[in-house]
Amino acid sequence: MKTKAYGTYNPKEKLQSLTIDRREPRPDDVVIEIAYSGICHSDIHTARGEWGPTHSPCVPGHEIVGRVVKVGKKVKKFKVGDLAGVGCFVDSCGKCSPCKTHEEQFCEKHTAFTYNGTEMDGKTPTYGGYSTHIVTKDKYTLKIKKGMPLDRTAPLLCAGITTYSPLKRYGTKKGKKVAVVGLGGLGHMAVKIAKAMGAEVTVMSTSPSKEKDAKKLGAKDFMITKDPKNFAKVAGKFDLIIDTVSAPHDFTPYLGSLKVGGTHVLVGAAAEPSSVGAFGLIGGRKSLAGSLIGGIKETQEMLDFCAKKKVYADIELIPAEKINEAYDRTVKSDVKYRFVIDAKTF
Ligand code: NAP
Ligand code: ZN
Ligand code: ZN
Repeated sequence: MKTKAYGTYNPKEKLQSLTIDRREPRPDDVVIEIAYSGICHSDIHTARGEWGPTHSPCVPGHEIVGRVVKVGKKVKKFKVGDLAGVGCFVDSCGKCSPCKTHEEQFCEKHTAFTYNGTEMDGKTPTYGGYSTHIVTKDKYTLKIKKGMPLDRTAPLLCAGITTYSPLKRYGTKKGKKVAVVGLGGLGHMAVKIAKAMGAEVTVMSTSPSKEKDAKKLGAKDFMITKDPKNFAKVAGKFDLIIDTVSAPHDFTPYLGSLKVGGTHVLVGAAAEPSSVGAFGLIGGRKSLAGSLIGGIKETQEMLDFCAKKKVYADIELIPAEKINEAYDRTVKSDVKYRFVIDAKTF
């Protein structure tokens, strides 16, 4: 299927309009007409070659919502006209231990990431959501409830699940104090979801201009991280830190703000290593952990949780021709709080 898309042939070049070839639907596939596609900072890391080699062309986008326009013979989960979402991966082996325990993102054989990856044959390139249509296996496609605002729902497919998963895993609920580091796409979803789970939230940010928004999004407190003196005021305060920062930074001062036994979870994926002092972890038996998106079952659970609590992203809707500008603004931390592309403009 010839499909209009936006992508780049070379990590040094800007994204441009191009045409890709999608596979003809198999019996267990759905064809989705994409309505909206979010811009995740991972798209930028990838398209610009910061994480390693990219395919040519590279068509990013893993925050996808749209409508099913065709279903294969064996598809039971969807019918034509249903709303559907696609997140960060589109296939896995289905048989290994992580797959059997609903953590397909850690498949021992091969997770087929939505873009810049390969299908299960290890050869056929995958192309993401910056396009008019996508063909995906029904089992790896998410259900979107009627009534969810589609443009503001798209970012849940990555920013939502990436923050929901560690918030849930580390027991976020009423009475817990959670710090969110970095108020961008992931950060603002972490604030909203942690608040919806009942926690008291503090935003730790480098941008003084974001204080008002942080409080509007649901944070009780706001702290500027550039001044080391501010860390003394929050020493021993938090049960959990969700760190969404996209650039290297020293973890040590953040660890000091955790309670005894607290956990600092990295979801931000800086291309370069960061530093951490051993004493920051030893004193107070702290943990430094990581988390990668979430499995299909948990992503569906997150979508249903967000629908129930009416938790959606705050977005700037843009046409495809503004993608390069949106990338530059995101890198400058100038995003309120997720760019979403209108797929009609591809
Ligand atoms: P984003 O919208 O650009 O937000 C990142 C925020 O980090 C910025 O808004 C800024 O917040 C802060 N920041 C940026 N540069 C900084 C620096 N040099 N020092 C301190 N703070 C800085 O990005 P995103 O889409 O939320 O993604 C964040 C990171 O998570 C990216 O690295 C992305 O690849 C990664 N990611 C990981 C997963 C996963 O599964 N683990 C999933 C999706 C994305 P302030 O202005 O408030 O300081
Ligand atoms: Zn993402
Ligand atoms: Zn597997």
